[in-house]
Order: sequence, then C-alpha cells, then structure tokens
Amino acid sequence: MEKPVENYWNLRLTELEGVLEKNNFTVYRAETKEDAAALVRDRILPEIQPKSVSFGGSMTFLATGLYDSLRSAEQMEVIDTFDRSVPAEEFAERRRRALLSDLFFTGTNAVTETGLLVNLDMIGNRIGGLTFGPKHVVVLVGRNKVVPDVEEAMARIKNFVAPANAMRLDMKTPCVKTGYCEDCNSPSRICNTWTITEKSFPKGRVRIVLINEDLGL
Ligand code: SF4
Repeated sequence: MEKPVENYWNLRLTELEGVLEKNNFTVYRAETKEDAAALVRDRILPEIQPKSVSFGGSMTFLATGLYDSLRSAEQMEVIDTFDRSVPAEEFAERRRRALLSDLFFTGTNAVTETGLLVNLDMIGNRIGGLTFGPKHVVVLVGRNKVVPDVEEAMARIKNFVAPANAMRLDMKTPCVKTGYCEDCNSPSRICNTWTITEKSFPKGRVRIVLINEDLGL
C-alpha cells in the first residue's frame, strides 16, 4: 500500500467524524492547515456571517494563519484576545467581551474516539467560550489530539500538554523544571478547570474541523 500513514488517518478520522456528528457537532474535514483556513474562509464564514469574531488560546488556530487574516477583515469586529500590547485591564476586558462574540475559534486539548472534547484551562476564557456565550464556535483539531477515552485524554493533558504549555509560556511552575506534573500550588498553575463537552447544544452550535496533520500540543 502506498501512503499507509495517510490511509490510517483517513480511516480513523472518517470514523471519528461519524461519532462526532452523532454528538450533534457539525464536522468538517481538512487535509492540511491551509485547507482548514480555506474551509473557514470559503464555507464557514459565509454560512455564519458573524458581526463579531474572537478566539481562545490555540496553537492550531495560529498555525492555520486565520488569526492574521481575520485581523485585517473589515466586515466584522475582531475582538483580539492575543494582542498583549494593550494594558492588562483592556486585555482582560477583551477576554470577557469575547464570550459574547458571534463566532469564537478555539482548539481542544483532546478528542476521544467516543466523540468528546476534553480540555483543561488556566483562566477559563477558552472553555468558557466553548461552553456558553458565543453564538457559534469553531474548534480546530489536529489528528494528534485523538485519544481512546476520557481517561487517556486526561492523562495526555496532565502528562504532556500542561507541562509543555507551561514551558511554552515560560511559567514558573515545577513541571517546567521536571517535565512532570507535580500537582503544584504555584500562583502560575495553568491547570485549574476541566471541561468534558459530550455534545453540542444546541445541535450544530459547535463546529469541528478535523485536520489530517499533527498540530498544536
Ligand atoms: S498542576 Fe502545576 S505542575 Fe502540574 S502541569 Fe499544571 S502547572 Fe504544571
């Protein structure tokens, strides 16, 4: 067989697509991050026609280039929650306003083969937007986020995603030094609130773009 890895992931993602649809998510498929950006631009944005758009922290969202292209969009308000040049109060206020946007982009820490999204947040603005507030949510998911079940999802997040994110963000947490979660009491602890999103409510509010590439942590 030629391209066995692509074939493997094609089968896995096709199965996952069906499971997620049964959980009331609307699912799209993209082969690459560039395809995902085009899909958002050419299909999802025209479908939703948002007047305002914002985002929660997501390396996958950044990798698609959508952050840069949306910032220059003139036909919608962009609530930029990534711009750290603004004063701290304005930065926090933008995160609050993002929860009332028409369209909210984010990633997920893990997606199970049973079609659940599992996330762990420091502040909660990302999982807040995923759960309630924005009229529409788009979750961009690289294939590396797929795990068998919730137990494996939580293990992946605590053993890999959280320490690696703490390193990426230059946090002063013990995991940055050891590579292991030490269940710390640090003021910089990035692990504060878990969510398990079992289904989209209302049906179709949460759109998921499955991308056949390894993206994000
Ligand atoms: S609880 Fe603390 S030590 Fe554990 S991963 Fe989170 S920030 Fe790191």
